[in-house]
Amino acid sequence: MGRKDNTVKKIGNYYEYTGCIHLHTTDSDGTKTIEEVTEIASGLGLDFLLVTDHMTLRAREDGHEGFHNGTLLLIGYEHNDLEDCNHYLLFETREVLPADMTPQEYVAEGRKQGALGIIAHPDEIRPRLGKYPSYPWLAWDVEEFDGIEIWNQMSEWMENLKPHNQIVMAFSPRRILRAPTDRVLAKWDELSMTRKVVGIGAIDAHGFPYKVGPFTITIFPYKVQFQSIRTHLLLPERLSNDLKTARRQIYSALRDCRAYVSNYRRGNASGFEYYAQRGAETVVSGGFLDGYKDVRLVVKTPHKASISLIRNGQAILRCEGTSLECRPQQNGIYRVEVKKKQRGWIYSNHIRIGI
Ligand SMILES: [Zn+2]
Ligand SMILES: [Zn+2]
Repeated sequence: MGRKDNTVKKIGNYYEYTGCIHLHTTDSDGTKTIEEVTEIASGLGLDFLLVTDHMTLRAREDGHEGFHNGTLLLIGYEHNDLEDCNHYLLFETREVLPADMTPQEYVAEGRKQGALGIIAHPDEIRPRLGKYPSYPWLAWDVEEFDGIEIWNQMSEWMENLKPHNQIVMAFSPRRILRAPTDRVLAKWDELSMTRKVVGIGAIDAHGFPYKVGPFTITIFPYKVQFQSIRTHLLLPERLSNDLKTARRQIYSALRDCRAYVSNYRRGNASGFEYYAQRGAETVVSGGFLDGYKDVRLVVKTPHKASISLIRNGQAILRCEGTSLECRPQQNGIYRVEVKKKQRGWIYSNHIRIGI
């Protein structure tokens, strides 16, 4: 069964569902089983959990997909190339694709099979050598992906890890989370100029043990990770209790960019609204209006913050408060960033106006 109906938030014409994407279990290099992570997620009231172990779909084959105490568990996997670069999340492939495929091949094959494909932690720049090498996306010549991770908790943590800060980084892992990088946001805006590319939040949870001096502690226990970067989806209808239908609803919302990303550590973002209106027509993130004339863009946040409206990658309006409204004067792709004390809180997907 899905979550009780009376707890589902209705935002305009849409129902909002919140969950976490990209995590590992003992089926690959995570430290808890699929049953354990699902129980933690449902204990926290997540509506969905998208698990992505490395190069295996065992949990899906074993029949774990479905509702577990109100949390919809869906299972894809994370593909990587032979150099362990170009990590790619794939949902709904028939099976794990051959390990010797190039990124060009696995992206194309995913599309051919009707799978949802999302580029993982695309912009890592720390050195490839050493104890914690980077795993960047390099194959930008491919085009048939559906989205990219604009914010990956584990990736941001690793990128910021330095010998002098490892104690504070290890003991308060969520505190250092700042915001998606300018690099990834610029890339996302650039890609989105010509087509829909969903921007999602990812946690990349493993529950790794980490050694700091004489201590071994678990950085990012799953429970902590599930309370950081979340992806919120807007569905035109309530999430079905039928697995096949619910799966289609979640993947369609992602493909269609009806999504926003939040960092729960900065506050519960549920209820955030971003829409464009013209007469009786209203569209949310992922939506399209055929021109800017008479359009009103509206943003409402659950609490006070710094709201920026971004057009074609440039901030065009900024204000402090719980709402922002403007009448766009040009066509373009518009998205919203919300920050609290310079730290990222909410990132909408784009609304397309005239392009
Ligand atoms: Zn990865
Ligand atoms: Zn991963």
